[in-house]
Amino acid sequence: MTVSDGQTTDYDAVIVGAGFAGMYMLKRLRDDLGLNVRVFERGDGVGGTWYWNRYPGARCDVESLFYSYSFSPELQQEWQWTERYPTQPEILRYANHVADRFGLRPDIAFSTSIDSARYDEAQDRWTVYTDDGLVTTAQYLITAVGCLSASRVPDFEGMETFGGPTYHTGRWPHEEVDFTGRRVAVIGTGSSGIQSIPVIAAQAAHVTVFQRTPNFSVPAVNGPLSGAEIEQTKANYEQLRQAARISPTGTNPAAPIGSALELPEDVRTREMKERWDYGGAGFMSAFIDTGVNAEANEVVAEFVRDRIREVVERPDIADLLVPRDHPIGTKRICVDTDYYATYNRDNVTLVSVRETPIERITERGVVVAGELYEVDDIVYATGFDAMTGPLNAIDIRGVDGVALREKWVAGPRTYLGIASAGFPNLFMITAPGSPSVLSNMMVSIEQHVDWITDHIAYARDHGVTRTDADPTAEENWGDHVNEVANMTLYPRAASWYMGANIPGKPRVFMPYIGGVGAYRQMCDQVAADGYRGFTLKTSNDVRPSRQSASQAPVPAES
Ligand code: NAP
Repeated sequence: MTVSDGQTTDYDAVIVGAGFAGMYMLKRLRDDLGLNVRVFERGDGVGGTWYWNRYPGARCDVESLFYSYSFSPELQQEWQWTERYPTQPEILRYANHVADRFGLRPDIAFSTSIDSARYDEAQDRWTVYTDDGLVTTAQYLITAVGCLSASRVPDFEGMETFGGPTYHTGRWPHEEVDFTGRRVAVIGTGSSGIQSIPVIAAQAAHVTVFQRTPNFSVPAVNGPLSGAEIEQTKANYEQLRQAARISPTGTNPAAPIGSALELPEDVRTREMKERWDYGGAGFMSAFIDTGVNAEANEVVAEFVRDRIREVVERPDIADLLVPRDHPIGTKRICVDTDYYATYNRDNVTLVSVRETPIERITERGVVVAGELYEVDDIVYATGFDAMTGPLNAIDIRGVDGVALREKWVAGPRTYLGIASAGFPNLFMITAPGSPSVLSNMMVSIEQHVDWITDHIAYARDHGVTRTDADPTAEENWGDHVNEVANMTLYPRAASWYMGANIPGKPRVFMPYIGGVGAYRQMCDQVAADGYRGFTLKTSNDVRPSRQSASQAPVPAES
């Protein structure tokens, strides 16, 4: 292994990103395997998603007690969450606490972006080029770039002429933005818009929301955590964490009570009402068939539409807010506080841009159907080039100089959502083809980091200098990912899961929907089989791993 003298730019591993994935990866490789590791982070602090997404109302839609690391019993006992759903500032404080508690900062180069990386086949090492002109080499390159970190603003005509400040929710300024007395446009009604609109409306003189597609949103029913709740969870953390690891989504919602098609109407309505009143995304787990049967899905969708009509006073506004173009859950379900009620405020205007898209942006505001909506500020809540965007932003070149973004031109191709054939010694945490965004990211991050750590330890113990996914294993995995997705309603929505929010992006369902627990089992089995589906090269030879690639993967659970 490479030795670092503090000056050297040669490492055992380079990690891209110091969010929750990058921090834990650093800790494991450095503290458990004793490797020399360098993390490059483009922000000037840790936290990733939670470093960048500082918009008003930003909060996680997974409960705080479970949107946190489980690897350290001491950490999870000592950290005090204050609310059921944590705010962005609280999560960022937690990320900083973790960085300090485990002494991670000295190994992180902040305010540094990786522009490109080349695999050197003669050395079996990566050469990494950063925007400060530094050249670094490492045996392993590990991306921890996040799934929703490449923010995206549509190319509206005239947008550069706008006279006031503009903001993207995913690139929010560090200093406080005060909307008091101002007229604000919010473009976009995904999770970021739905969280920020009520908070901005409470402060601004007027908010005009430009909505292209209404989304389904369920109430968070957020509130302070009681001492008893915290104590009870902490006393049972081990079992609760384990249950989350083997669950479908990495969370612990109440189990479904049966089929929406088979249960009597009063039973299913009672169940949905109870879950609605309890709050959170667990509402989506009421029935076993919501995600796979259109008729069952409609039962749940109609329940939510009724709630929207109940809350929103003006029927014409309610009608615009009711989603009809996609099955519920096939776009990421939103979790809100007072979203629909916000449209009852006098200072909020809803403009549908579905039939008449935003025409252009002028110095004074936003033009739709020939009408100018005058505003002082524009908030773009317009989303991200999800999953592939952050990886394709780096010019990663593998064997024979092939670029990852070229290999993925028709959609991402990975083995297990961790590796990609022809890119040896590259591991991608929560990449396309893994459960990632369909799960509690903390659970999926920990699983990937632990698996990668084990793989690297195995390579070290067996004299392996190079590990590369086998193309056949990769193809089989891709087929499996598609097959499982096609068993669900997900491909019916024009969602960012499908790449549909980016003009020209291939329509491929990117995350793996077979479930977090089943996926973990498959990954563990691949490891137990000596990394089946990877070609491992020792210093003297190239040999396939113990079983032939054509047998990989084993989607036994799906
Ligand atoms: P998003 O879900 O992609 O929403 C983007 C919004 O912008 C959509 O309403 C979209 O309309 C609209 N839009 C895009 N281009 C437009 C155009 N040319 N004209 C008009 N409207 C346009 O992005 P997001 O809200 O940032 O959320 C992304 C993901 O981040 C979420 O799904 C979630 O996974 C995560 N997130 C999580 C939380 C949380 O934990 N609570 C909070 C925020 C975000 P269309 O639907 O018609 O494309």
